[in-house]
Amino acid sequence: MKDRFKILVSTEEIQQKNIDLANQIVRDFGTEPFLLLSILTGSFIFSADLCRAIVTAGGDPIIAFLSASSYGSQTTSSGNVSLTIFKELSLSSKRVLLVDDILDTGYTLSHIKNYVLAHSASFCKTAVLLDKPSRRKVSFSADYCGFTIDDHFVVGYGLDLNDQFRSLPYVAIIQDT
Ligand code: 5GP
Ligand code: MG
Repeated sequence: MKDRFKILVSTEEIQQKNIDLANQIVRDFGTEPFLLLSILTGSFIFSADLCRAIVTAGGDPIIAFLSASSYGSQTTSSGNVSLTIFKELSLSSKRVLLVDDILDTGYTLSHIKNYVLAHSASFCKTAVLLDKPSRRKVSFSADYCGFTIDDHFVVGYGLDLNDQFRSLPYVAIIQDT
């Protein structure tokens, strides 16, 4: 199965990066509780690993989820982002860390950050595992970024193609499509 994929970021590189990002986050957020808002579905693995690395680094994340989808083609975002909130989400006066898998056009994270700030969060920072700056459609940069990559469609470590490949323990390009 590995032959189908060209590994772009290995399991070991991801593990080390989670530790580095967690240390930066705890330096900024300190040891007081903050809301780690994980954007489903793509960020579920990154969020799970990152929140445990944050605890190991001395931080205290409270975990909540929201789901974002945008109507577009299979592999790109349209800019019409719709959010699903799963339970009463109180953002007022909260310090929020938004966690997503990948920053591509920027539509999703800029929309959600606006939503969070419009609901009176005291501040909102953003963490992404991957960044494709060459694809940006709106001006946006993440506060914490794992890896900057070229314009490839990637899968693994939470990222899918038609719901496949999310469970791969690395980030890869599919060779045969
Ligand atoms: P944006 O709104 O920044 O264009 O896109 C963000 C979302 O598009 C990501 O959270 C992710 O779900 C999806 N996306 C963008 N690039 C890729 C990619 O290379 N692979 C996969 N699987 N999803 C991507
Ligand atoms: Mg996503």
